[in-house]
Amino acid sequence: TTKYIATPSRTKEILGKYHFTFKKSLGQNFLVDVSVLQNIIRHAGITKDTAAIEIGPGIGALTEQLAIHADKVVAFEIDQRLLPILEDTLGEYSNVFVIHQDILKADVTQVIAEHFQEGQEVHVVANLPYYITTPILMKLIRDRLPVTSLTVMIQKEVADRMSGKPNSKSYGSLSLAVQYYSEAKVVMNVPKQVFMPQPNVDSSILQLTIRQQPPVDVTDEDFFFEIIQASFAQRRKTLKNNLSRFFKGVHDKEKIEHILQEAGVDGIRRGESLTMDEFAQVANSFYQYQE
Ligand code: SAM
Repeated sequence: TTKYIATPSRTKEILGKYHFTFKKSLGQNFLVDVSVLQNIIRHAGITKDTAAIEIGPGIGALTEQLAIHADKVVAFEIDQRLLPILEDTLGEYSNVFVIHQDILKADVTQVIAEHFQEGQEVHVVANLPYYITTPILMKLIRDRLPVTSLTVMIQKEVADRMSGKPNSKSYGSLSLAVQYYSEAKVVMNVPKQVFMPQPNVDSSILQLTIRQQPPVDVTDEDFFFEIIQASFAQRRKTLKNNLSRFFKGVHDKEKIEHILQEAGVDGIRRGESLTMDEFAQVANSFYQYQE
């Protein structure tokens, strides 16, 4: 009987056959535990009716499970050396299509239109290269792609920040940026032992469910995110102090207090205590005083 790719023995065999050496600079930590992969697939909502986009298939550990459970899989891989390996390891799955491209440069909307049926539910599923987790996820959720969800293995600390709630240590501008576009939750923490080679950080599976509408009304999105950034510029400082710094030469302290009052938010609070709704109120109030 043939074994799944995601086992230590099969992975070692494939790596040996092709004299493959890991590139740390590409975040290559391959999964060698089938049960973790099946957990990812289950949480991702993958069924035989759905399509999947994978980022970084490696030697095909997750791709194989996606091929088995989804209708069709399109995977983006940047490392040229992996292409002949994937042709070999995934040769028997006719519903897999590998694109040799940097995901950050890919036109994913175009790929979806080209490869999947019109109106088909699409899920992004990946064990991401950790060195570019945030740029990849921000690109995918900001581009308003026609995808339902993203279920990804990432560094635990980043997963905690992306899903962070007010008044927690992990809450900050990244939480708000991610949660403006999606509902974020950590579905599972994963031990280092399921990777080859083992990374030196802990990992989690993060699920982002794309929102059809933003959860708050903001007059100007860029300005809203600038206000958020400014409010967390110095975590220990009050909202009033952080914003005074941001609006230096534009609004004096009194004016800032006045505008915060209009927004219904006390300036002595810290940024980390404000909900997204409150940030929207603050940003919209300040926006009225923009030149
Ligand atoms: N999916 C495989 C698994 O779970 O065993 C491999 C995951 S490994 C953490 C990350 C993969 O992403 C590697 O195969 C790496 O070459 C690829 N990769 C790194 N940067 C990339 C990029 N910018 N675009 C596409 N793939 C990339």
